[in-house]
Amino acid sequence: MRLIRSLNSISGIARRTRKAGKSIGFVPTMGAFHQGHISLIRKARKENDVVITSIFVNPAQFGPNEDYRKYPRSVNRDKQEAAKAGSDILFFPKASSIYPKGHKTHVEVERLSDIMCGKSRPGHFRGVATVCTKLFNIVMPDTVYLGQKDFQQAVIIRDMVKDLNMNLKVKTAPIVREPSGLAMSSRNIYLTPAQKDRAALLYESLKRAEQMIKGGARNASKIKSAVSRFLNRPGIKLEYLMVVSPADLSERSVINEDVLIALAAKIGKARLIDNIVVKLKN
Ligand code: AMP
Repeated sequence: MRLIRSLNSISGIARRTRKAGKSIGFVPTMGAFHQGHISLIRKARKENDVVITSIFVNPAQFGPNEDYRKYPRSVNRDKQEAAKAGSDILFFPKASSIYPKGHKTHVEVERLSDIMCGKSRPGHFRGVATVCTKLFNIVMPDTVYLGQKDFQQAVIIRDMVKDLNMNLKVKTAPIVREPSGLAMSSRNIYLTPAQKDRAALLYESLKRAEQMIKGGARNASKIKSAVSRFLNRPGIKLEYLMVVSPADLSERSVINEDVLIALAAKIGKARLIDNIVVKLKN
């Protein structure tokens, strides 16, 4: 596997790959790999001739009081893991190459960026949409692979690709979890063992909501109250809990079709997100 830092080099490879009629699968990440990232690389490997994985801790998607500087970085280990999972290239650009002096263009996906995680992280999705646009232009992928862990992000990128007529497909893959149910995340290393146990309750609360719906509950408020009550304990600060349409993230008060239940919570130093899609019919 090749490690490439230069934008010109990676674009040259992408151009030659496409000219040769080969497909490019692209997995954009911020590194500190876990099995969630690896599952995306493996999926891309199965479906493409060439797999490009990127690591870029994107300053534009972090707020001023967030963990940009402290965000876990482990590029040497990531390099080995990406190679093992079948990536051909690890693209690891410098922040100064992605945002050279004078950079002034941003991409904003309206409405979807201001709700859920966007409420407490103003500008976050503008940073995500901008960097994804740039990475897609640089890497020229046929297919981009995103995790359902960041469900809102995947919906935003999917709609951005459609709205801006970008010539690529967006595919998503399921959330990979720890045996406890905790969704894997690079930020889980911020958690102490006790906090990790507590964090597993987030998924348990979502499973309980699913059980309620499968058992016939249709009132979203009642489900949200039950989940909030379950999570109302020391050490868990629930930021939001929403029942929305998985198609366009619009809020659902009555559950008469498939819903996404999504939450964000602060546990110790970590802000964690998780979600579950509840299907009414199997
Ligand atoms: P990140 O490095 O956190 O920006 O994530 C890079 C990609 O991996 C995104 O598309 C995430 O949605 C995806 N991802 C992160 N955690 C998981 C997980 N536990 N399961 C599946 N995909 C994930």
